[in-house]
Amino acid sequence: MPTMLTRITGLTAGVLFAAAAQAEAPMVKEQAPGYYRTMLGSFEITALSDGTVKLPVDKLLLNTTEEHVHNTLADNFLSAPLDTSVNGYLINTGNHLVLVDTGAGSLFGPTLGKLVEHLKASGYEPADVDEIYITHMHPDHVGGLISDGEIVFPNAIVRASVEDQNFWLNEDNLKAADEGSKGFFKGAMASLNPYVESGQFKPFDKDQELVPGISAVSASGHTPGHSLYKVKSGDNTLMLWGDLIHVAAVQFPQPDIAIQFDVNSEQAVESRAQAFADAQETGYWVGSAHLSFPGLGHLKSADQGYEFIPANYQGGVGDTETGK
Ligand SMILES: [Zn+2]
Repeated sequence: MPTMLTRITGLTAGVLFAAAAQAEAPMVKEQAPGYYRTMLGSFEITALSDGTVKLPVDKLLLNTTEEHVHNTLADNFLSAPLDTSVNGYLINTGNHLVLVDTGAGSLFGPTLGKLVEHLKASGYEPADVDEIYITHMHPDHVGGLISDGEIVFPNAIVRASVEDQNFWLNEDNLKAADEGSKGFFKGAMASLNPYVESGQFKPFDKDQELVPGISAVSASGHTPGHSLYKVKSGDNTLMLWGDLIHVAAVQFPQPDIAIQFDVNSEQAVESRAQAFADAQETGYWVGSAHLSFPGLGHLKSADQGYEFIPANYQGGVGDTETGK
């Protein structure tokens, strides 16, 4: 017969053992599959994460000083190099499944290239996508079009502005580019050319509606043909900004701060100023490739410049009262 003391000791040992076993569980260190769903009128919007990449934003931003960038990041509990989201957006209009930007694929290192995996986790297949809209032809937006040189989206028409096509898919521009920039041209060509060859690439010229409810709006500067996409269902509007902004903490208060990736930073600053003013005035939703995932929210004016108000988390996209 065990005494009361041995019974208690046995119990204590059990509790201690359980605690020790818990502490020794290997850490998982991964996020849930990177997708976030919401509705815009009758359209279903799925934000897709391609992952994050650490950017030395203190060295990359223009029209400012490293000290100002460090101080502003510190005020926002951030530091450089800064974990920077790369987001794409999938829009199910009911008639079309439209993907805006495709992530980096294999072009930007191992922390990116997860968009297709997350698209699948969100309940769709690459073959379901029938339209792909490219904001601009930088590698972190077009790399996901291909995998090992093969087309990833077999049933999609890929659209981008003709200005970006003429700039990035031009062999003469590649030859004339300095060594540091050649990779951008090569990345664009490797990603787009398979679709050009298969007849799936169809550039557009100037602002226009591409499928009912989704229109291209030119906002050049970051690249010659950099385009925003306006998504409209009923009275609800979402403007997808592409690379109109890279470092939220620094550029919302001061939209005149630019980034070295801009082909024409003066023009990029003008496009940003116009888009920010428009978003603040109209109060529509915005979504952007490099805002912290899911990168959806609203803009309001602040003491200095603007403030971004991220979307309030929704556990489901149905009616919150009935769950349907
Ligand atoms: Zn980008």
